[in-house]
Amino acid sequence: MASCIFCKIIKGDIPAFKLFESEKVLAFLDIQPLSYGHAVCAMLPVMIILVIPKHHGALLTDIPDEALSEILRKPVAKKVAVASGAEQYNLLQNNGRLAHQIVDHVHFHVIPKPSPEEGLGISWPAK
Ligand code: C5P
Repeated sequence: MASCIFCKIIKGDIPAFKLFESEKVLAFLDIQPLSYGHAVCAMLPVMIILVIPKHHGALLTDIPDEALSEILRKPVAKKVAVASGAEQYNLLQNNGRLAHQIVDHVHFHVIPKPSPEEGLGISWPAK
């Protein structure tokens, strides 16, 4: 969709720090990257990753099953873990305005919860 900021990122029309992509899915760094770690890392900032289907749609019900399921399957989960530098993370999806969705292109926020051994996260490129 021409006016959608995430569609522009997919096309490369506006810059983003891309971590990995497939035919149907793209992962890149959120421009407001900071969250905080967990437990012993609670004071340490971590980078938030956005994982999006390349198909444009505002709500989960607008996205083809194959793109949605790819986001939740093992290969993407492994890449997310490598890229975020954390095996454990929160996956947040705001579905609709009442759920505080601002960008009307489905996206999953990956909020890493690195262990002390994993440190501050984000290793790139994610192989
Ligand atoms: O779920 P919600 O729609 O509220 O989140 C949108 C997210 O998209 C925010 O975390 C915001 O920082 C991110 N964003 C981005 N790059 C843009 C515009 C928004 O990473 N150009």
